[in-house]
Amino acid sequence: MVGGVSATRKTPAFRLTGWGRPPSLADVAVPEPAGAEVLVRVEAAGICHSDLHVLDAAPGALPYRLPFTLGHEIAGHVAALGAAASGVEVGARVAVHGPWGCGECRRCTAGEDNYCDRRAGLSWSGAGLGRDGGMAQHVLVPHARYLVPIGDLDAAQAAPLTDAGLTPYHAVAALKPAEDAPVVVIGAGGLGHVAIQILRATTRATVFAVDVREEALALAHRSGAHRTLLSGPGTGSVLRRETGGADAVLDFVGSDPTLALGASVLRPGGTLVIVGSGGGRLTIAKPGPLPQGASVSSPFWGNRRELGEVIALARAGGIRVETELFPLAAAGEAFERVRAGRVRGRAVLLPG
Ligand code: NAD
Ligand code: ZN
Ligand code: ZN
Repeated sequence: MVGGVSATRKTPAFRLTGWGRPPSLADVAVPEPAGAEVLVRVEAAGICHSDLHVLDAAPGALPYRLPFTLGHEIAGHVAALGAAASGVEVGARVAVHGPWGCGECRRCTAGEDNYCDRRAGLSWSGAGLGRDGGMAQHVLVPHARYLVPIGDLDAAQAAPLTDAGLTPYHAVAALKPAEDAPVVVIGAGGLGHVAIQILRATTRATVFAVDVREEALALAHRSGAHRTLLSGPGTGSVLRRETGGADAVLDFVGSDPTLALGASVLRPGGTLVIVGSGGGRLTIAKPGPLPQGASVSSPFWGNRRELGEVIALARAGGIRVETELFPLAAAGEAFERVRAGRVRGRAVLLPG
């Protein structure tokens, strides 16, 4: 054993090695957990559109140090414990709460790493985002508090629930829409189709789903959307007419046109929730594109307690992530399919 890694055992991991270079499979040593760390044997790791944003980032745009293993939606079982790790046992099946923060501030110690007070000074945003993540056979988790038990839940379900489930759950929990309140979901992909299910399972809102792909709208319909609309020039006026003004818009794209669409269909006092990192811009001005009394939020991921609630909701049958499964060896091909918009729901890698 040298420097916290086993000198002999090497297994494949899907790693980003240079900005602007495609990620690739490389053999890495299996890490040995030290201190409070926990080694998790990965059973499944989801591919998020944020991974593509990371791959497309210009050098210097993100604070991450290279190389690192991608993968921030992770589920598996505990393989080994550091000497100071407690609260979890070898063999326990777990989902990983991914938005690792500094680990020490009040937010982090309360399980709210997604809003770590020291986030701006960190060189990572979480597992697989500047730190070695789950597109590998093993992931070294800094502390047992990042693990949520999943019981007998399928790992290919649990992994995407840690982000494609947790992020919309956190966003919806902040909304509390009234009965029959119109809520618009823009982008029914990995996050969006789960958002629709969460809206249906936890609120009595009337859900409108918008996408540019017919296949995504079919998934939105199966996920419980009351009304689905193919995005086009007339979508704003149709939505304004049919909703009478939306109480909330959840934008899972975040591009210029979707932000403009979202702002234009809100009712006065409505909320625009920008989840997608599409790099679009929206002018906040008075007077401006937003109706009077509007709120805008840009939630990031969700907290540990909410991840427990998402897992419980899934185990009770309230959420089912639509997945397409790929072996880890086909990670490159799976990423290209996500980029081409050819995945229904979530692509999930199985390290085997
Ligand atoms: P995805 O690729 O699975 O889904 C995106 C969907 O949006 C697709 O169905 C696509 O057809 C649709 N779409 C694209 N352009 C559109 C348009 N102009 N109008 C309507 N629909 C359109 O992506 P995902 O993994 O669900 O991620 C969605 C976004 O959320 C990404 O930008 C990702 O980076 C971001 N994200 C943010 C957080 C957060 O914490 N805020 C967490 C995870 C992902
Ligand atoms: Zn993500
Ligand atoms: Zn912190």
